[in-house]
Amino acid sequence: MIPSVLPTYNRAPLEFVKGEGAWLTAADGRRFLDLGSGIAVNALGHAHPALVEALTSQAQNLWHVSNLYQIPQQQALADKLVEHTFADTVFFTNSGTEACELAVKMARKYFYDKGQPERVEIITFDGSFHGRSSAGIAAAGSEKMVKGFGPLLPGFVHLTFGDLDGVTNAISEKTAAILIEPVQGEGGIRPVPDAELKALRQICDDNGLLLILDEVQCGVGRTGKLFAHEWAGITPDIMMVAKGIGGGFPLGAVLATEDAASGMTAGTHGSTYGGNPLGCAVGCAVMDHIADDAFLAEVNRKAGLLRQKLEGLVADHPEVFEEVRGAGLMLGLKCKAVNADVVKAGYDNELITVPAADNVIRLLPPLTLTDEDIAEAVSRLEKTAAQVEAA
Ligand SMILES: *Cc1c(COP(=O)(O)O)cnc(C)c1O
Repeated sequence: MIPSVLPTYNRAPLEFVKGEGAWLTAADGRRFLDLGSGIAVNALGHAHPALVEALTSQAQNLWHVSNLYQIPQQQALADKLVEHTFADTVFFTNSGTEACELAVKMARKYFYDKGQPERVEIITFDGSFHGRSSAGIAAAGSEKMVKGFGPLLPGFVHLTFGDLDGVTNAISEKTAAILIEPVQGEGGIRPVPDAELKALRQICDDNGLLLILDEVQCGVGRTGKLFAHEWAGITPDIMMVAKGIGGGFPLGAVLATEDAASGMTAGTHGSTYGGNPLGCAVGCAVMDHIADDAFLAEVNRKAGLLRQKLEGLVADHPEVFEEVRGAGLMLGLKCKAVNADVVKAGYDNELITVPAADNVIRLLPPLTLTDEDIAEAVSRLEKTAAQVEAA
């Protein structure tokens, strides 16, 4: 008999009832150190007082109106994002995959309005993840995601990750954009080298294409810059954001330059919930904390500390781990053992990590994790590795 919850997830037998900072309390009272943050969502940890305050005070006043009216919280969050990024304008969604939908629509409309309606193709890369909507799965294109869900949205050209020559060869009079995650998340914490992002920007400029960055997982302070592309010194034309921006409240956004967004006039796109007062009140509080040089400096300091200890862990457990990779507090441990076994052994040691493709376990801790949390994380990873070795 089918469970009352549609069984599209293989859930771990863990049930959490409370969270505080980087810690989760399970129904049976056990305390888990959370290096997953709900997959890079709880950027400020669980139950951050400023977010609780932003949400509850907004909840006492107004939950929802509609984008038919002015929404001051939405305006404030858009202003903050514009102030701190390349973007001139922002559309709010409820999720990353909805941001992908708009990014694709925006790119196509851009060329349609410029009198080049044949430019509809978007170049993407293997191992990428852009969400589970029809556009999102077509964009990523992996067999695992698309099988049985055809006919797929046409217009995506899938290339090998890191194949710059392939990009140049794939460009035709039909190409509209290149879509890439600066650091692949689901694909196994695979950073795109700065030089490659720069080269992609140059290819877009040379060919009049739009560069769309998916920063749903790597954005909002995760890599130690507000957005990951800042490390490469480039800017996109369109950027997808979600996960961390809501700190746990469902919130996403598409950021764009004025030119890239020029086709999106009144009536061309919409959302019932996107940018509602609750989500944007929380988003403002998230931005107030993370879009801050001192906060980001701390992220980088802690990331350096954690990474150094992880290098030691990998060296001490060559049968379990192969390497550390990633950027900032978006780290991956490439496993020699089966990654799912390592994640499971972590649960036995009250430690939460997240599996990814390429036999990687992801460490995406709250950006607010403390030095004591880092020491505890490494100690629990040590125990976990020892348990896997003994098995
Ligand atoms: C999670 C994720 C998405 C999809 O976001 P949802 O909120 O699950 O729809 C898209 N792109 C990347 C890079 C992601 O990590």
